[in-house]
Amino acid sequence: MKSFADAVAFHGHSCGGLAMGYKLAEYVTELLGLSFSEDEELVCIAETDSCTVDAIQVFLGCTAGKGNLFVNKWGKTAFSFYNRKTGKSVRLVAIPDAVPRPAEMTELRKVVFSGKATEAEHARYDELSDIHVEEILATPAEKLFEVKETTELVPMKARMYDNVICSVCGEQTADGLCGVIDGKYVCIPCMRRL
Ligand SMILES: [Zn+2]
Ligand SMILES: [Zn+2]
Repeated sequence: MKSFADAVAFHGHSCGGLAMGYKLAEYVTELLGLSFSEDEELVCIAETDSCTVDAIQVFLGCTAGKGNLFVNKWGKTAFSFYNRKTGKSVRLVAIPDAVPRPAEMTELRKVVFSGKATEAEHARYDELSDIHVEEILATPAEKLFEVKETTELVPMKARMYDNVICSVCGEQTADGLCGVIDGKYVCIPCMRRL
């Protein structure tokens, strides 16, 4: 597995969500008996679009472009994983406040996210955040996530489409993803404007 620093480089900053993702990846690897997904054998359905999703891409190889990562903006720190080879699957749900933020960090967070923090407040927030990240990384995964059964069916393998030209905008699109009106292809954005 890649290091936490690799995920920080990809994501742009170190944060609690990324640390949760590191622990999640470790746990999933152990529970489903797998490693980095070169192809599409591991599928992830995320129930949030938070920082944690970036860690899943780096550590587990489930990526938006390969069709083995589905991101839902449901605001729940919950992730389902499916091993297509073995048929095994698991849903991991973050236990609320398993590693609570110190009160000072919660207060400073509001100031920092309002964009009005001073340099000293920023520095202090970063310091507290680094400690929080270390605490998460040092916590056993089973204290961070509840293991549940998956409720959704395993998504289909990414389909291969042929390229066609939209008869309205003249731009290239995929045949399986556009409409046919009067025998001519029309891309989704153009259909919405008709
Ligand atoms: Zn982040
Ligand atoms: Zn079009």
